[in-house]
Amino acid sequence: MITGKNYIGNSLSAKGKKTFKTFNPQTNKENSQIFSEATDDEINQAVSMASIAFKSYAKISGVKKADFLNAIADEILALDDELIAMFCAESGLPEGRAKGERGRTVGQLQSFANLLREGSWVEATIDTALPNREPVPKPDLRKMLIPLGPVVVFGASNFPLAYSTAGGDTAAALAAGCPVLVKSHPMHAGTGELVARAIIRAAEKTGMPNGVFSNLNSSGIEVGVALVKHPQVKAVGFTGSIRGGRALLDLAAKREEPIPVFAEMGSVNPVVILPEALQKRGADLAKTYAGSITLGTGQFCTNPGLLLGIKDKNLIAFIAKLAENIVQIEPSCMLHPNIIGAFETNKAKALAQQGITVVGSVENEVQSNYARQIITTVEGKTFLENTTLHQEVFGPYSIVVQCEDAEQLQHIISKLEGQLTGTLIAEEKEVKQYTEVIAALQNRVGRIIYNGVPTGVEVCPAMQHGGPYPASTDSRFTAVGIHSIKRWIRPFSYQDWPKDLLPDELKNENPLGILRLVNNKQTNSKI
Ligand code: NAP
Repeated sequence: MITGKNYIGNSLSAKGKKTFKTFNPQTNKENSQIFSEATDDEINQAVSMASIAFKSYAKISGVKKADFLNAIADEILALDDELIAMFCAESGLPEGRAKGERGRTVGQLQSFANLLREGSWVEATIDTALPNREPVPKPDLRKMLIPLGPVVVFGASNFPLAYSTAGGDTAAALAAGCPVLVKSHPMHAGTGELVARAIIRAAEKTGMPNGVFSNLNSSGIEVGVALVKHPQVKAVGFTGSIRGGRALLDLAAKREEPIPVFAEMGSVNPVVILPEALQKRGADLAKTYAGSITLGTGQFCTNPGLLLGIKDKNLIAFIAKLAENIVQIEPSCMLHPNIIGAFETNKAKALAQQGITVVGSVENEVQSNYARQIITTVEGKTFLENTTLHQEVFGPYSIVVQCEDAEQLQHIISKLEGQLTGTLIAEEKEVKQYTEVIAALQNRVGRIIYNGVPTGVEVCPAMQHGGPYPASTDSRFTAVGIHSIKRWIRPFSYQDWPKDLLPDELKNENPLGILRLVNNKQTNSKI
């Protein structure tokens, strides 16, 4: 019997004959719930409702939208143990991680609610008319940010809550005024359905239009493809593989009306370890990095998959220590047999390359779906010549590149694909010595970390989570923090519009009391 259904607005629907189940990687068994994949009819109905809902939702005040987002957070918390148990059963992740991710999800929703209550995020910009200007009068122009329209959000496999149904993209899009259609990730459809229920309850309690949110299930690419191609969909948010993100970007570009795809994809997050830091702190760094490489079984987009140093006896000692530390860590479970399958395939591909040496790997038998972590090393020249070695091996894998000198280090960095993060491990005086290496790194990444680890993404306004392609499809935007709202808006100007008919954000009286740029001056004042 089908128990897992699609939310088409506030109605549950399961018309599809194609069904699937989720999988518990810890028990190595399928979970019992049967999900029905969304049909074309259900997809069309959900998009059409989102399109109608957009007309009223876009005009709802920021304060009311904030109430909606806060209500979603409350409803998610009210799911309590049921949600935590489902999260763990579908991901194999421990309870602590489930609770941490729930906290992050709730915190994201609340931070967008605060942004809406404050209101200045719309960047209201007013240039009043100069009717007597010579030779031509200047018109009255008033600009603000407005929502794009219905948005499709793809749930991410590695963050069943924080980057999925009510995750960062959904929170940001709803805050911007865009209805959201979630393409639920098949690996955690049950978690997705519970969260969808929370969103629908919140929408009903706060009087949001039916269709402001829908949740569609699938176990293949067809539903996602149909959503991205749908003419009434106006933007896409995605977190996952480069292959998946790129396919969606190309699909969106080929539409009669191309739409933006904000995809956050693969990254090896290079870590540059400079010689003096290595000499002083090599042993500690090896321990810290063994932990970072295996954190969450290496299934974080900020996992340090590439370590770069200049070859000397300290680098050799560091590699040995890293290998020693990594094999002492207990292997842990990956999210799904497909993810561990991809880990094994990509690892084997890397290991088949000439000149690569395994320096430390867990060799003993492990439970099904548990990953055996591994560290490899290679000479700088070999790495430079073989771009297969530059590719992400999603999981607890890292390669240490032994560069000949600073020049080769800089050259290698400049040849890397775009990355979410870059880390510099250095003594302060080395920061001044290696300016060109650092500049090369800055040019390839969205965030640079000093003497830390890339794992652990703080959710706050100053966070940039996105980088040059293929880390993301548009490096001008972030996937994390309140500024991600800018993915889902467009600037819009009113020229000589009747004052009473302007939105509150642009009225002379400034009834919302927001900060605006009026005739080139930042002010909260009336005009
Ligand atoms: P994925 O294969 O990129 O899939 C993510 C979502 O996109 C799924 O819902 C999938 O649909 C959909 N999708 C994929 N290709 C598509 C296409 N051509 N057209 C339309 N929809 C498409 O990622 P995943 O399933 O989460 O994991 C697979 C691999 O992705 C991992 O092993 C890992 O290498 C990588 N990954 C990387 C990151 C990162 O942050 N770097 C995060 C997650 C995953 P269906 O599942 O329904 O087919």
